[in-house]
Amino acid sequence: MDPRLANLVDLQKAMAVRHRLEKEKAELPERIKAVEQQLAQVGATLQEAEATFKEHERRLREKEAELQDVQAKENKIKGQLFQIKTNKEYQAALQEVENFKVKRGQIEEEVLILLDTVDDERRVLQERREESKAHESRLKMTLERLQKRSGEIDAELAAAAQAADVVARNVDPDLLGRFQRVFDAKDGVALTPANGDYCHSCQVHLTPHVVQVVKRGQDFVTCEGCSRFLYWDSELGD
Ligand SMILES: [Zn+2]
Repeated sequence: MDPRLANLVDLQKAMAVRHRLEKEKAELPERIKAVEQQLAQVGATLQEAEATFKEHERRLREKEAELQDVQAKENKIKGQLFQIKTNKEYQAALQEVENFKVKRGQIEEEVLILLDTVDDERRVLQERREESKAHESRLKMTLERLQKRSGEIDAELAAAAQAADVVARNVDPDLLGRFQRVFDAKDGVALTPANGDYCHSCQVHLTPHVVQVVKRGQDFVTCEGCSRFLYWDSELGD
């Protein structure tokens, strides 16, 4: 292989490493933000469920107190029935007892429904607390990993950029310019194998003539399909 072409192979490798790190660095803040938002969401959802449960518990206590109150009033009138002198007053008192009874029945019904609700919610909430905890700890681990990566990536990127610059110095400036343009336009791949008689990037079938030139490795040939530079990778075979 022409050493100029061999340099392009090295350049593609070095520039791809830099490109991957640049992409990763650019995406890190968004990824961190997304995990932070998920964390906040998990906490908020649980808090909402806790608040609903507390509210139902409060209403249950309120209804139970109300029930006691009505029961006490009913008992009080019942206790006074024997002391009532006139029939009219007696009938009125009986009616009042009846009214309290009806009221008590309604409240008892409400208490039973609330008891069921609170029991269900307590059980569901216990499960959700555990799920949230597990989910939160997974998210926190992801966040730590991403934050750690943020701290490392600048040094890695600087080293990769330096390595790419060193290789680029061996490439003719005009050729380097062409190579860089293809690299930027073609998502970080400017040079691609032609083994098997097809372009490994765009899968276009290559003519025997192109394959012959590429195999010889003495001239620069670009793919008709995607404009990337082609080379024959000795490690891939025919
Ligand atoms: Zn191609």
